[in-house]
Amino acid sequence: VLVDTGGIDDEDDTITNHIRNQALLAIEEADVIFFLMDGREGLTPSDHEIVDILRRTEKKVFFIVNKIDSPEIEDTLLTPFWELGVEKLWPLSGDHGYGYATLMDGLVPFLEKSDLEIDLPENTMRIAFLGRPNVGKSSLVNAIIGQERMVVSNIAGTTRDSVDTLVSRDQYNYLLIDTAGIRRRGKTTDKLEKFSVLKALKAIGRCDIALVVLDAEEGITEQDTKVISYTQDQGRALIVLINKWDLIKEDKKRQEQLLLEVELALKFIPFAPVLKVSALTGTGIKRLFPEIGKVYRQFHQRFPTAALNRLLAEAVARHEPPYYHGRRLKFYYTAQLGTAPPLFAVVANDPKGIHFSYQRYLTNCFRDGLGLDRVPVRLLFRERSGRKK
Ligand code: GDP
Repeated sequence: VLVDTGGIDDEDDTITNHIRNQALLAIEEADVIFFLMDGREGLTPSDHEIVDILRRTEKKVFFIVNKIDSPEIEDTLLTPFWELGVEKLWPLSGDHGYGYATLMDGLVPFLEKSDLEIDLPENTMRIAFLGRPNVGKSSLVNAIIGQERMVVSNIAGTTRDSVDTLVSRDQYNYLLIDTAGIRRRGKTTDKLEKFSVLKALKAIGRCDIALVVLDAEEGITEQDTKVISYTQDQGRALIVLINKWDLIKEDKKRQEQLLLEVELALKFIPFAPVLKVSALTGTGIKRLFPEIGKVYRQFHQRFPTAALNRLLAEAVARHEPPYYHGRRLKFYYTAQLGTAPPLFAVVANDPKGIHFSYQRYLTNCFRDGLGLDRVPVRLLFRERSGRKK
């Protein structure tokens, strides 16, 4: 995940509190830091100040001098920066690519799994609670943990970005990933919002099911929509929880309006279940686990190839594919490539000619035929190999 902190330089060359905070926050959130300086401009007072801050972190910092557009000028442009007393300077031309390969090679040893993974029991359902500050993520996790028959395991783990709790219920194991678990510092600024998105992205990356929590009173915001679309970019299962339902329990008009808003936001993700809950009163919490179970089963389900091929043949027979460049599109066979999300390869004579609407038709046939009504379903169209056209 790449985060651009935006210009942390200032007009009058002094480092303001705001800039300092931003740099500190970036350092705290990152695993590896690229600090870029401007080789054409030379060393500036704010470079000095930021390097002072960077010296205090134990994280890997690459001190990069940018705008070194060719090897001949490298020595000249780099010289003033040695004054910083850093061990290594990385010459780079972001525009021309000079130094890029070397920098990437330098980065590789520092790329590793950044999130601490605790040893989870087999088939643990990993559930991430996502949403804006104060929508009630932690309250929901607490409400769930406080339920009857819920056994909280003592091997809970904590990463820098979330608090994980392992719970079991009816012999099933769940890892609850609470992205609010680490308390926010200070007031929310644009930059902080940006970093909470980073936190969300990391949690999405390691969950099966993303629970996006909304506040019934505040409704759905642009940030919620963004997080929802990230869950789909990463192919996660999604459940939307409208929390604080107690606050609008009596207000039928508000309920209608809110549900419409949510429906609109989920226009391209109509399969995502939407549940009304209240962490405060416990409403809807009981229904959450059966729903999670259904979603998880679909997300990890495997299908026999024979059944898939039958389904494909029937779908094609029911609605013949159109011609493309004078040839009728042919579909030969299909197989499941993977789960989480369910992914199927469909082998055809001319995959490029399959119109989007026909792709959607086939995806819907798979969805209906396989009973995958709650999770994303992906079809990959492949050309049959090893045969002359
Ligand atoms: P987080 O930042 O998303 O983890 O939100 P919190 O769990 O800290 O909750 C923020 C505030 O909302 C707290 O004051 C909670 O008491 C309140 N809250 C959480 N869930 C509900 C709910 O279902 N109903 C009502 N009325 N308040 C809630």
